Amino acid sequence: MFVRVLPDQAAGRLLDYRVPECFGDAVAVGSRVKVPVRTRMLTATVVEMLESSDVRGMRDIAELLDEKPMIRPALLELARWMADYYCCPVETAVCSVLPVAVRDGRVSEKRRNTVRVAREVTEEELAALEKRAPRQADALRAVIEAGGPVPVSGAAEQAGVAEGVFRMLEKRGFVVIESAVFARDPYAENFVSSADLVLNSEQEAALQAVEAAMADPSAKPILLFGVTGSGKTEIYLRAIRKAVDDGRTSLVLVPEIALTPQTVERFKSRFADMQEKIAVLHSHLSDGERHDEWHKIHSGAARIVIGARSSIFAPLENLGIIIVDEEHENSYKQDEAPRYHARDMAVLRGHREKAAVLLGSATPSLESWHNALSGKYRLVRLDNRVDDKRMPVVRVVDLRQAARRSPEGGILSLPLKEAIEGRIAKGEQTILFLNRRGFSTSMLCEACGHVCTCPDCSVSLTFHRAAERLCCHICGHSSRAPKVCPKCKDPGIRHSGVGTQKVEEAVKRIFPKARIARMDADSMTRKDAYRETLGAFKEGKIDILVGTQMIAKGLHFPNVTLVGIVNADLGLHMPDFRAGERTFQLLTQVAGRAGRGEMEGEVLVQTFTPFSPSIQFARHHDYEGFMDQEMEFRRQFGYPPFGRMVMVTLRGAMLERAQFSAETLARKLKASAPAGVAVGDAVPAPLAKAKTYHRFQVSLRGPSSVQLSRFVRTTLDSLPMPADVFVAVDVDPLHLL
Ligand code: ADP
Ligand code: ZN
Repeated sequence: MFVRVLPDQAAGRLLDYRVPECFGDAVAVGSRVKVPVRTRMLTATVVEMLESSDVRGMRDIAELLDEKPMIRPALLELARWMADYYCCPVETAVCSVLPVAVRDGRVSEKRRNTVRVAREVTEEELAALEKRAPRQADALRAVIEAGGPVPVSGAAEQAGVAEGVFRMLEKRGFVVIESAVFARDPYAENFVSSADLVLNSEQEAALQAVEAAMADPSAKPILLFGVTGSGKTEIYLRAIRKAVDDGRTSLVLVPEIALTPQTVERFKSRFADMQEKIAVLHSHLSDGERHDEWHKIHSGAARIVIGARSSIFAPLENLGIIIVDEEHENSYKQDEAPRYHARDMAVLRGHREKAAVLLGSATPSLESWHNALSGKYRLVRLDNRVDDKRMPVVRVVDLRQAARRSPEGGILSLPLKEAIEGRIAKGEQTILFLNRRGFSTSMLCEACGHVCTCPDCSVSLTFHRAAERLCCHICGHSSRAPKVCPKCKDPGIRHSGVGTQKVEEAVKRIFPKARIARMDADSMTRKDAYRETLGAFKEGKIDILVGTQMIAKGLHFPNVTLVGIVNADLGLHMPDFRAGERTFQLLTQVAGRAGRGEMEGEVLVQTFTPFSPSIQFARHHDYEGFMDQEMEFRRQFGYPPFGRMVMVTLRGAMLERAQFSAETLARKLKASAPAGVAVGDAVPAPLAKAKTYHRFQVSLRGPSSVQLSRFVRTTLDSLPMPADVFVAVDVDPLHLL
């Protein structure tokens, strides 16, 4: 017997080996093996079984890493498809369907060092230890509190000490460390079980559609378009219940930042009777936890998987349904190779494995909306909030009228300031939201709201300060940066940006007595900080919560009656044709946070461009109106989904070399572009320098993504790059920075 294998590091090379007798028939497609390559041993995946091979001097497989093949053929196929479509090396795609913790076999199966107390420890002993060795005392306390054997790694994290500290405790005879089988459940807690709710008629109809799709192997994906608070989660839960009853498995994808204990609890409490059959995968898991959860799925023990983006590759068999919640979320797109979109992979995987696919959102992406309108997806709607609560009132504060800006740093306008004052007086809560994603490089006139955009592409031009030029990174258009506003001649044209920290400081200055907390990626580095801050907010211990995207999603605070959006323009004028769509979605989602309880909610949006459609349609809660005009804009300029796009980004430490390589690539692409494919000039990326690298971009547009992807791959293969210039190819890019 022979096999063809794909080494993890081999630039797409396939190699043939003989399977020695001793392995019997344990080797199969998807098996992980070690093979000799010249003088080295490489880890590889078996991709094909061969009856014969005409390779001469063939060597033997050295080692079989697992008894059961690690990668199921269906997932191997998915990986190969992904490599072709997303223009990445096939071994990179294959590796991405196995978590690192599993791939390297570093964590042995479920046998971990655990620690428990060796004997009763008195208060005096603890106090004495505290004096001599405070860290050991912390560690010991963590073990005592745990009450039974716990993994050393977990106890170390809990106590905030290195794992070695436990060895010292062992020497002193306080604890015992032993290797034991230990199923780590990061969410192990007692769950109160929750019962099914009585569905309203809209939900009833939606569930029927979903169940029909689950019964029909050739059903179209369903787009569940339901306003915030319309009870989409209840539909998900019922669909999963149906899959369980049918003996099938379920996969639920949620955006990473929405994968909070709150979310997980909603699922776990509904399936309280089968806790051990639910696996949760998210990025905060330790290697050991990830390893365990993965094997729980691989062995068939887990029937329900909840996870973020990469869970789309969870090795479930007999899939009944794949649910993608908040399908419009950008975090479903992976930002390193393979640059796949988990929602699109869900549709593909569902199709191949004959599982129903359910995409849910209050603000579906334009692509999905287009697919629903064209009949590729089936549209199912929930038009009303479950409790018939009214949507919050959205007021727009026009920052161009300088008089409305308050003196304190111009961060809070007078109307917003007064609104907050009113809430504090009544003991109600406020969320201040800053769309800080990245940075601001566009030019915006503070007097009239004019924004400099590319005449050909209609995206905001990027301001490159050093050269004093404005560039379009889609077509390469470039012009001198104006000194005064081209429209109203005001010299106040500038690019602006404030961070959450500045907002927090300003708010503290204006409301010295208020209790204020900030929540963003910087302030939430500790594992529990997120949970603690939200807990305090929920208990009413915080009056004003300042935050980023983190607070925009899926949270439920009955006492929040005011949401302030500090600067809607920050996201709106990104040099990206999706900037308007994103801003609309964000405003709608954030607005959905207000007025979830008994009291009615209000949203204040501060902006220099109050007339922009994103803001106006969001204000009227008019999703379809927004999509109509946005669709027209995309059609007019040939943007996705009407045309496809590939963005090639080159980066290098040396500016000239990176630029030269980008220009050479652009020239080469242009020279051999197939009919219908447009190649842009090489231009500095909007994010022209990141992590000390200079970045340049070349964009391609054409009718088909696969065609563009293959064309770029062939061109790159024939174009040697300097060793210090790195190329990233993004097919169907979401972030054009
Ligand atoms: P969405 O995900 O669409 O924003 P949720 O699923 O979070 O909405 O539902 C909002 C709230 O309504 C939740 O507290 C949920 O428990 C409740 N809910 C959902 N369906 C029903 C129902 N049929 N009867 C009563 N309450 C419901
Ligand atoms: Zn342009």
